[in-house]
Amino acid sequence: MKEIHHWIDGKETKGGSGRFSDVFNPATGEVQARLSLATKAELDDAVASAAKAQVAWGATNPQRRARVMMKFVDLINRDMDKLAEALSAEHGKTFPDAKGDVQRGLEVIEFCIGAPHLLKGEFTDSAGPGIDMYSMRQPLGVVAGITPFNFPAMIPLWKMGPALVCGNAMILKPSERDPSVPLMLAKLLQEAGLPDGVLQVVNGDKETVDAILDNETIQAVGFVGSTPIAQYIYERASANGKRAQCFGGAKNHMIIMPDADLDQAADALIGAGYGAAGERCMAISVAVPVGEKTADALIEKLVPRIEKLKVGPWTAGDDVDYGPVVTKAAKENILRLVQSGVDQGAELVVDGRDFNLQGYEDGFFVGPHLFDRVTPDMDIYTQEIFGPVLSTVRAGSYEEAIKLAMDHEYGNGTAIYTRDGDTARDFASRINIGMVGINVPIPVPLAYHTFGGWKKSGFGDLNQHGPDAFRFYTRTKTVTARWPSGIKEGGEFNFKAMD
Ligand code: NAD
Repeated sequence: MKEIHHWIDGKETKGGSGRFSDVFNPATGEVQARLSLATKAELDDAVASAAKAQVAWGATNPQRRARVMMKFVDLINRDMDKLAEALSAEHGKTFPDAKGDVQRGLEVIEFCIGAPHLLKGEFTDSAGPGIDMYSMRQPLGVVAGITPFNFPAMIPLWKMGPALVCGNAMILKPSERDPSVPLMLAKLLQEAGLPDGVLQVVNGDKETVDAILDNETIQAVGFVGSTPIAQYIYERASANGKRAQCFGGAKNHMIIMPDADLDQAADALIGAGYGAAGERCMAISVAVPVGEKTADALIEKLVPRIEKLKVGPWTAGDDVDYGPVVTKAAKENILRLVQSGVDQGAELVVDGRDFNLQGYEDGFFVGPHLFDRVTPDMDIYTQEIFGPVLSTVRAGSYEEAIKLAMDHEYGNGTAIYTRDGDTARDFASRINIGMVGINVPIPVPLAYHTFGGWKKSGFGDLNQHGPDAFRFYTRTKTVTARWPSGIKEGGEFNFKAMD
């Protein structure tokens, strides 16, 4: 059985804990590798070594650090197919979607090339008589990134790019479900010129995460994953005096107004609801048509589109719409929630429960589901399902629809489909959700803007990527300097006693 270990001090490093977790092939259900899980002592050693490497890296000028990122961009592009194949093989998402995962991470590395500009700081000339004042952005030291399974390239890249280019060393603790791509990225960074020890990839589980949270050298923790863990990490990291930003789960609503182009809205819902088997934090999981007529027409358009979806392994070709979910436990949880929807009285318009793929009976495939007449008290509405299940909640008016989204505890993304500019502007201005799409179903901001949810979808003050990432991974030092006004009396030819 293949074993996957850690990346420490620029080398693949075998773990010594004797603890492993299984890495599955989600399409077949087979275990394809065993992943070494680090102990607290292993984590602490990796941090101590990173702290040593950080000193010279932090003192390297920003332009040189940015050049490592430039080279990294070239190498990711060179190895794009290899990275995407490894990603699909462990995650299960289709090959084009895996490339998208790498691409959206790569764009943040491209943004990081602008580090010399972004780290420039501020300067006030003559703040007082003979006084100048300037603020510097300095690295924090050693920081940590803890990432989820659903974007095994993109989110590690969102963490490592800004953290490293700001002059920090990073401990990356990727998801134990799909650990290979982060290790490949660490090797590419070495090839790009990153000094050994500056990026340590330490694989592990809760024991390793807790060791990160309690390690006194680590100054900041960036986390992405489910809400209960995000909240736990935010609280424990903060209690230990660390800077923390923790991004959690989601329940993203799309409001469909009576004036919307319903074909466009239905197409958008198919991609945003079922793409990547619904395992995206920006997936649309709730459709809110306004008015009974809109709802009936929307359901009529959705059903044939859903029935046409092609579900299969990533190896079956680029026309596969989505692949398996990540684990058997994830599949069971989705089917349990679907059953709760039926039991609590929602109308299951498309029932994917009996879905079976010949030759892949043990794979973690879940057929597409569509619910209608879902109400806010149902578990399928309150909980994140993270599977190919779209719930329809019918709203009587725009006010009712916007209230639904605003009252939900999650606030990651949302969208509105309408032809009316006033409604769209009102929605964008009033909604208490971090990322908003207007006739755009998955409004993931580009690398030079910032990404982050509100309410229970995000804990901490600053967003991911964009200028916020440069604020998160640096601290400000402000210098007030007064200089003597210089030699006024001409040259001195004798030694003077020091007063
Ligand atoms: P998860 O919370 O199970 O795991 C995330 C990370 O936390 C992993 O590295 C894991 O090893 C670690 N972890 C798990 N349990 C832990 C525990 N008890 N103590 C300490 N660490 C623990 O999340 P996941 O299943 O990998 O990812 C899916 C979730 O991530 C979904 O809820 C999704 O919405 C969310 N997500 C959010 C965003 C965002 O930007 N808001 C982006 C992607 C995914």
